[in-house]
Amino acid sequence: MNRFQVRKVAVLGAGVMGAQIAAHLVNVRVPVVLFDLPAKEGPKNGIVTKAVEGLKKLKPAPLGVPEDAALIEQANYEEHLDKLKECDLVIEAIAERMDWKLDLYTKIAGSIAPHAIVASNTSGLSITKLSEVLPEAIKPRFCGIHFFNPPRYMALVELIATPTTEPEVLDQLEAFVTTTLGKSVVRAQDTPNFIANRVGIAGMLATMKEAETYGLTFDVVDDLTGKKLGRASSGTFRTADVVGLDTMAHVIKTLQDNLGPEQGNDPFFASFATPPVLQKLLDAKALGQKSGAGFYKKVGKDILRYDAATGDYVPGGGKADEIVARMLKKPPAERLKLLHDSKNPQAQFLWAILRDSFHYAAVHLAEIAESARDVDFAMRWGFGTSQGPFELWQAAGWSQVAQWVKEDIDAARALSSAPLPPWVFEGSVASNGGPHRPEGSWSPRHARFVAPSTLPVYARQPFRENVFGADAAAPLKAGTEVFRNDEVRVWSLDGDVLIASITAKLHLISPAVTQGLLKAVELAESAYQGLVIWSPDDVFSAGANLEVLMPVFMKSGGKGILPEEKKLQDAMLRIRYAGVPVVAAVRGMALGGGCELAIHCARRVAAMESYMGFVEVGVGLIPGGGGLAYIARRAAEMAAAGNANADLFQFLRDPFTSAATAKVGTSAIESRKLGYLLDSDVIVAHKDELLQVATQQVKAMAESGWRPPMRTTFPVAGRSAKATIKGQLTNMRDGRFISEHDFHVAELIADVVCGGDVDAGSQVTQEYLMALERQHFCGLLDHPKTQERIMGMLQTGKPVRN
Ligand code: NAD
Repeated sequence: MNRFQVRKVAVLGAGVMGAQIAAHLVNVRVPVVLFDLPAKEGPKNGIVTKAVEGLKKLKPAPLGVPEDAALIEQANYEEHLDKLKECDLVIEAIAERMDWKLDLYTKIAGSIAPHAIVASNTSGLSITKLSEVLPEAIKPRFCGIHFFNPPRYMALVELIATPTTEPEVLDQLEAFVTTTLGKSVVRAQDTPNFIANRVGIAGMLATMKEAETYGLTFDVVDDLTGKKLGRASSGTFRTADVVGLDTMAHVIKTLQDNLGPEQGNDPFFASFATPPVLQKLLDAKALGQKSGAGFYKKVGKDILRYDAATGDYVPGGGKADEIVARMLKKPPAERLKLLHDSKNPQAQFLWAILRDSFHYAAVHLAEIAESARDVDFAMRWGFGTSQGPFELWQAAGWSQVAQWVKEDIDAARALSSAPLPPWVFEGSVASNGGPHRPEGSWSPRHARFVAPSTLPVYARQPFRENVFGADAAAPLKAGTEVFRNDEVRVWSLDGDVLIASITAKLHLISPAVTQGLLKAVELAESAYQGLVIWSPDDVFSAGANLEVLMPVFMKSGGKGILPEEKKLQDAMLRIRYAGVPVVAAVRGMALGGGCELAIHCARRVAAMESYMGFVEVGVGLIPGGGGLAYIARRAAEMAAAGNANADLFQFLRDPFTSAATAKVGTSAIESRKLGYLLDSDVIVAHKDELLQVATQQVKAMAESGWRPPMRTTFPVAGRSAKATIKGQLTNMRDGRFISEHDFHVAELIADVVCGGDVDAGSQVTQEYLMALERQHFCGLLDHPKTQERIMGMLQTGKPVRN
């Protein structure tokens, strides 16, 4: 296969999706030019400029750091069509109108580079019809590329071929979308709304309809259909409010327009009518979160819910019945039986929506997807469910559930009279107990189980996501285990690189974790090229485990913690000076002690969604595992790299402020800006490639003759810098921006990062700074206000302001 190089991408349409796709391209460092129509007044790029400005304020943030908006090149179709020639990939994301899209394609066709791939982000229009206006030369390189909103955070991208798309084009695009953009690809058939929206929106409509049938209020439905059911925590109606009820209506309209008796002919068509309550809200211009009211309305601190009968907003907060909540905690087979057999209306409602989802997915599988796996992945990645419909059905007992669904269809309790397809009851699927098995998932269109894609890009994912029934290897049971204690597993996949996985809750660092990591370093030094600290879930480490230190503290106060703190600091130094490279594979939170662990490694490989920072002040403490010593050392290193006369203080100010205000990077990019990742560290877009990249880093470092850093002294900014910081802190305290205790903690942070009571430029060691850290950390433990903050955090999980 030719190497598909993407030097630059053009995104056409700077609306909700186009602008955010451009932002994500910038996040992963792909140059992008964003086009829109020329503005009628003012500068011709006006529309794009406004969209790019909007990206800086949008929540959740589409950009890793807002200032990266400047990296998006702005263009309009009147002045800049020539710029299209430089692009290897063109993503069209203009308004969802077939005629407008066709017009635009005609306009740009002559300016597209001969090798470029052209792809539409349409949510549901026919890709084949869109391709028809294109010149013959472009048709083989045209396809659908369907991102989900918000594109930075939603994993799913559906790729859709037309009959004329070259297979190689989709393969190239799949590799790019996976490794470079970090998205998870499902190939969809060219049917209305593709897979995720087809199944997902039909599911939301079914939920709204069944809620009415069973007389449940929106708040109760959301509690039932959120986390408790293994779905996105916003449930059903709050999700609709967040998406926007107008957008929701738009997608429903696509179903209504394309799946009626004349075309599409979906047997569930009757259930696609706009729910009356949704229509009422649309008529009242209550469009959800963006207009301040929808199914819910926030008034002061209260969340009110819409009462469809009276048209008023009334107090919300209704929850699932305790008995039903308990049913949902049972394993799938028991759970579904309890729901199916129960007389409780909430349980009956839940059975009904699950039945509807199984029914819908089974009836449509042959038409919309290659295999059952693609439907399940589309629902996981596009709608945030923990399992898709087929895997849940299989886990719950395929034949029994199929029988129940059939009974409901026969008794006209289902949303459609369409029977379940024969493959549900007979042949390989029935004898296998469901559509997923280790060698693949059922494909009605091929009448066999089809294996997952074998494209080379998936070799980069040692633990590729898989569905229930595929019996995929569990990372924490895989490879060769070399050591394990209660909170760390040390193992190897290839015999060359050792892996340490922290298994404690939130990967909190306790003495057992420290001991496990030290053992891992020792083992790595004895027989491996190096060590990767990696865990399969999405937290690196949320910090030090304060709870386990409680008994010691109760007995001997802050002083009793001193030796524990020293052990933690020594462990950090042991990792830093290990005889083999230790690489931290960071993903999700790396906070407090977790951040300190990462920064003491020889290198960090971080997933784009990594959130790093020192948050200790939240519990009235200071970073005590070498974090402040790191800030002082980095300032000295950066000053030395600048020029001999550089003022050390300049390099201290921002890191000091970050530590003193518990600032956490909201992406790997921002974490790097805060100084917790270095320029030499690697940012990885796809979470499932993290282990592979970290392992390769260890190997490359070992191959390059890696040696640990030398133990040297370095200069600190000293008492004059401390006095400057104190002056600023005093103003903040007197202006009541910070409390007396915030002031006290910040002053202690300043003391350590400036090197204590010494002259500017004094040479110090890390050990010296760590001793200062230790002293202040343990002193703060005895402070009543710190104790109040710690107790508050342990009891409520929320910071106490005092
Ligand atoms: P939008 O309304 O926010 O933006 C559409 C953009 O198209 C605007 O910037 C507008 O100036 C431009 N435009 C309008 N008419 C045009 C024309 N005749 N020629 C050229 N440009 C024109 O829309 P959006 O929500 O960003 O959707 C864009 C595409 O992405 C649609 O195909 C939509 O179905 C799809 N999509 C949307 C979402 C979503 O959640 N909004 C999700 C996935 C896919």
